[in-house]
Amino acid sequence: MFSTFFVNTCILVTFLYITGLISQRYKIRLHTLKRKIHWIGGALFGCYGIVMMYYSIPVGFNTIADLRHLAIVATATYIGAPATLMATLFICVGRLLLFGINTQASVGAIFMMLVGLGCALLSHLSWSRLPKLMIMNVFAMGIIFCSLMINLKNLDDVLHVYPLQLFISMIGGCLLYLIAESINTSNELLLRLEHTSYTDHLTNLSNRRQLEFSLEEKLPQARQRHEHLSVLVLDIDHFKEVNDTYGHAAGDAVLRQLGQILMEKCRPNDVVTRSGGEEFTVLLPNCAFRQALRIANQILSGVNQHEFILADGLVLKVTVSIGVTTFPGTGEDMSGAALLEQADKALYEAKNAGRNRVCSYET
Ligand code: GH3
Ligand code: MG
Ligand code: MG
Repeated sequence: MFSTFFVNTCILVTFLYITGLISQRYKIRLHTLKRKIHWIGGALFGCYGIVMMYYSIPVGFNTIADLRHLAIVATATYIGAPATLMATLFICVGRLLLFGINTQASVGAIFMMLVGLGCALLSHLSWSRLPKLMIMNVFAMGIIFCSLMINLKNLDDVLHVYPLQLFISMIGGCLLYLIAESINTSNELLLRLEHTSYTDHLTNLSNRRQLEFSLEEKLPQARQRHEHLSVLVLDIDHFKEVNDTYGHAAGDAVLRQLGQILMEKCRPNDVVTRSGGEEFTVLLPNCAFRQALRIANQILSGVNQHEFILADGLVLKVTVSIGVTTFPGTGEDMSGAALLEQADKALYEAKNAGRNRVCSYET
């Protein structure tokens, strides 16, 4: 009996681990589950339930127990009601198709349907996951008690096998919770780490690392597709004075608002980054020089018109200088670093020419 229970535990751990890997690969987060994920998740957990039926645990003469209801409980706890109904459907149909249609199987399938419906309803509870999982497990075991009563027809026979089933189910539920929570926590941490390593914490734009990564990706892409790739480098004029006059926090507010202006003026596929202290770089894929110049001028006038509002309500005006360059201006084989250098030179020129202007790199 204990060896089959051990096998069931291994199956449970393996399935949860595979689910964890899938959610890690597709960056699926529990609090932002899409409808499509509900159906796929439900089907997946339904398959887990079917496999668990194959490895039932003998708990008494002619009586077996399995942990298939835990697949339903897990779906209800971690995914939601539609997925729970999907998993239940899979398990019930799987039970009838794979193990034959007889009275015992039909009773089992009907009662499993009740477990699914109940868990789908209980999944709406606003409790935390542990008590929710526990109450669903107890509810499922209550339903299973009724199904045993119908199948065995004798309370003594039921009481002979039921306590062990209940015990196994409770241990299984605890294990399920511990493993699922540990996988979920490590996935969440990984996603957060990934996000922070590529994001600038002040503006929430991409950071320098992401810029280099994107450039490595976009430049060969442009070369291969014979498209243009433009780069804008933008620097705030006399930003040190903002910090010196109004304080560092005011400077930070300006940086944040400038980030928002850039996001508004650029296209959805453009890579907007804060590449340095008060310097921003924008990659414009599939964007010819004239269009890049137009976008740069829109940013320039957007910044000129914007009233930067500080925490104390004070309104500030700032200007920016922008350098523009476009690949392939000086040859197909240029590197990403050379492209950034060209944009930097154009920016330097804009600063030298008196600031608050757009300059382009002259080939
Ligand atoms: P220029 O027109 O030549 O660009 O002059 P500038 O004053 O903008 O240039 P400079 O390089 O002398 O000063 C940049 C300033 O940006 C200095 C630094 O204190 C400030 N800075 C860099 N990072 C941050 C930041 O995260 N927050 C704030 N508030 N200031 C920053
Ligand atoms: Mg500056
Ligand atoms: Mg600077």
